[in-house]
Amino acid sequence: MVSVRGRRTRLDFYQLCALQLSRLIKAHWVLGGMNGAMPLLARQTGRVRGRRVDCPSRAAISAPSRNPSLPTIVGNSPWWIIVYIKDGEVTRKKPAVPEIREPIELAPWLTCPVCGRIIAISDQAFAAYFNRVAVVCASGCKIDWWDAVHKAVRDHFMLIGAYQVIGARTTTFTSPLTRGKATAVDFCKEGVPPSASILTVNYTGLGELMPLLATGNTVRPTPLPTKVHLWTAPLGGSRKHRGQTAVAATWIDPDEGDISTSYLAQAVHAYDIGRYIGVPIPANISVESALGPALMDLVAQYCDGGAQTALRRAERFLSDGATYSYQLHPLLQLVCELLGVAPLPKEIRKKLDALREYRNDLVHCGRVRENRKPLTKERTAEVLTAAIFGFHFAQFLHEKVREKQRERDAV
Ligand SMILES: [Zn+2]
Repeated sequence: MVSVRGRRTRLDFYQLCALQLSRLIKAHWVLGGMNGAMPLLARQTGRVRGRRVDCPSRAAISAPSRNPSLPTIVGNSPWWIIVYIKDGEVTRKKPAVPEIREPIELAPWLTCPVCGRIIAISDQAFAAYFNRVAVVCASGCKIDWWDAVHKAVRDHFMLIGAYQVIGARTTTFTSPLTRGKATAVDFCKEGVPPSASILTVNYTGLGELMPLLATGNTVRPTPLPTKVHLWTAPLGGSRKHRGQTAVAATWIDPDEGDISTSYLAQAVHAYDIGRYIGVPIPANISVESALGPALMDLVAQYCDGGAQTALRRAERFLSDGATYSYQLHPLLQLVCELLGVAPLPKEIRKKLDALREYRNDLVHCGRVRENRKPLTKERTAEVLTAAIFGFHFAQFLHEKVREKQRERDAV
């Protein structure tokens, strides 16, 4: 479909896809923007031939606009629709999409929970939250940043939402397809850094040839490669020999030695594949390994001896004395007071405690104890979001510690 900025584009799924109405009611649908323009739904329910159709998964679509004067579609760009049918059949409208000639790198984003506009996910947004300053979207809505990030994690929109809140970027490009031939696709040639870890990849056929991912005899799901080979499958008996596929590779490229981000990516991966029990250990390590160095640098400023001796003393204090649970309470609050920053909100600290308890259960007992809340998708999204905030708070604090050191050096 081609949208026009400032004008509503009406969708009739029945006409578009010639779907059976009964199937459409069960459909899970996704609207995906092309060329960086995101379609926004004017409303979340509609009528198809007189019958009310609810979108069963609010997660699958951009937040609807509550203001009818806002344009339904943002951008001046084509977009595509995939309709997934739950009973296993897939019906797809052939999209009239022009070739995207240059790869596009999309920075992480989420949608404003109030108006549905796109908001960049940045360290600045987290810093504003920690400084008790409201994050404001382009329409001027004041956003509860916790709510927005939690929603992005929980909904995991397009299966990249939770990756985006840890800073993952997505490189999109098209690749030609030839029937009966394997096409090599090298993500790095399209702009993905060679050192990046590929988190997830979306292949969407843009015509009558669907891409099929070739694998070796032994399929290794991770790590995802940066170079793949695609074969093709024709749709509906098509005789086309040439086609193209859109590729969206979501990746993260932490600095060398940045253990915290790598573990956070592992935690999100476990969430992504629905292995919720795999989330607490890497998520907890991520926060602990981000907080430790920040506290160590601060404590070392108050230890006697040369720089190396002071660091060793600080390290001993934190590993033998004030271990992670004491770092969360009460050391963190003391440190915040010392640095003149607001403490991490109590609700987040409670969730970090819960995360630590899940981690301890798994490490010490090999299971989550019966007296804990079970690790459902909802519960896991909560503690994972807390880990993401804990991780960002540690970075935020570390910067304040460095500022403190510069002040002390200047005296
Ligand atoms: Zn807004």
